[in-house]
Amino acid sequence: MDALIVGSGPNGLAAAITIARAGRSVRVVEAKSTIGGGVRSSDSRASPFIHDHCSAIYPLGVGSPFFRSLELERLGLEWIHPEVPLAHPFDDGSAAVLHRSIDETCRGLGEDEAAYRRLMEPLVSHWESLADEILRPMLHLPRHPLLLARFGLLAIQSATRLVRHRFRGPAARALFSGLAAHSFLPLEAVASSAVALLLATLGHAVGWPFPRGGAQRITDALAAHLRQLGGVIETDCPISDLRDLGNSRAVLLDLTAWQLARLAGSGLRDSYRRRLAAFPHGPAVFKIDYALDAPIPWRAEACRRAGTVHLGGTHAEIATAEGSVARGLPAARPFVLLAQQSLFDPTRAPAGKHTAWAYCHIPRGCAIDATEAIEAQIERFAPGFQRCILARQVSAPANLESANANLVDGDISGGGADLWHLIARPTLSFVPYRTPRRGLYMCSSSTPPGAGVHGMCGFHAARAALGRELAGGGN
Ligand SMILES: Cc1cc2nc3c(=O)[nH]c(=O)nc-3n(C[C@H](O)[C@H](O)[C@H](O)COP(=O)(O)OP(=O)(O)OC[C@H]3O[C@@H](n4cnc5c(N)ncnc54)[C@H](O)[C@@H]3O)c2cc1C
Repeated sequence: MDALIVGSGPNGLAAAITIARAGRSVRVVEAKSTIGGGVRSSDSRASPFIHDHCSAIYPLGVGSPFFRSLELERLGLEWIHPEVPLAHPFDDGSAAVLHRSIDETCRGLGEDEAAYRRLMEPLVSHWESLADEILRPMLHLPRHPLLLARFGLLAIQSATRLVRHRFRGPAARALFSGLAAHSFLPLEAVASSAVALLLATLGHAVGWPFPRGGAQRITDALAAHLRQLGGVIETDCPISDLRDLGNSRAVLLDLTAWQLARLAGSGLRDSYRRRLAAFPHGPAVFKIDYALDAPIPWRAEACRRAGTVHLGGTHAEIATAEGSVARGLPAARPFVLLAQQSLFDPTRAPAGKHTAWAYCHIPRGCAIDATEAIEAQIERFAPGFQRCILARQVSAPANLESANANLVDGDISGGGADLWHLIARPTLSFVPYRTPRRGLYMCSSSTPPGAGVHGMCGFHAARAALGRELAGGGN
């Protein structure tokens, strides 16, 4: 066997496909009985309500240059684009809205119409070149230096600074702050704008879709493609020691930095292992899946047309909530991310019934039950929500980690994404996928470009292995 991939998350499968496409033999081993890692959903044969276990909304999936090259639609993947990608409601019953169209988005932002256009239009109109620059290791020779510099000068700012300098009204400030909260950083942190700019650009350039039938459809399409290329996938195969990896020419680990540090034993240089073990953890996630008797009764009409809803109110409130989590205290009013796929995908629930997926950030190591706080935020913008609940499935950080060992302490990002750890991910190197042990690579979201379902970590790691261990003929 030319290559062994440990872990069948989107990055593991992307690595395997890249290697198989180059004509090399590849085997994927997965610890769990189902494949997909952060891209799995419940089986409709078990319950007619289909819930996404982890990820749910895929701007990075549909925008990923690697996924696009696979034409997964030919293997049964169907992206559903909700009428409105994102709505952000306020207490007065209004909402800020991210539409696919920049014009429509600007029109809803009143006094910040021109400022939003100035900020976003240059990025959106060059999305493909920008993707080429930012969905890879930060240390590289840019092909579009001016575009990258424009993005970099904005992205390096804290979200709080950017909204105060660019926007005057509460709607644009709150909309941008909700997007920035996806970074898991406090909004005052350097570079907390980066994720917001990326997600807004994607919203306009490619949308925020989800797959018909559940997240598993993405994984199924990736796995089908891999098998067509001759790749093999084995489930129920946990790897607990680097010595169990056999003798393939290259091994690519879809595992976090901390797992590699744990598995390595004496198989890796001590100084490297210590750096992996010290890779910072991000905050944890507390998640709830709902089966609902009716659509969520949002007060703001735009929320009833949106695939994703951000619940956190004003910029100041979101900054307080995320700042509190970063200081180790659960937020009294957490910022909640909510998806309501069944409004647009009838396969997700029985006729007339619905699903919702919601989570908030909580401090690492904090054992609170955030159910009440999450539901208070939903109820605040959708009075009567609680009367719609038929059932809820709560996933605390420990539940997330037991379903996927990569989610160490409920961190869903493969490690902190502050500016330094975006550059040195997991260590400072032009080829950060390579470990000091010849033939051993990392390809998870602990490597660039980091978290999200895009497969780009796996793609770049596989390219690194193909350029070295797998160069020349296959086995
Ligand atoms: C609750 C939640 C919500 C999210 N929402 C979104 C979203 O809406 N959009 C988005 O783009 N991203 C989202 N993400 C993030 C996204 O899911 C991850 O960034 C992505 O899945 C990372 O992919 P990966 O391949 O690096 O690792 P993973 O998807 O974590 O896959 C790793 C795989 O390795 C396996 N594994 C672990 N240890 C071993 C071992 N020792 N031996 C063998 N196999 C092993 C695991 O079982 C797993 O299958 C979310 C994540 C979570 C948890």
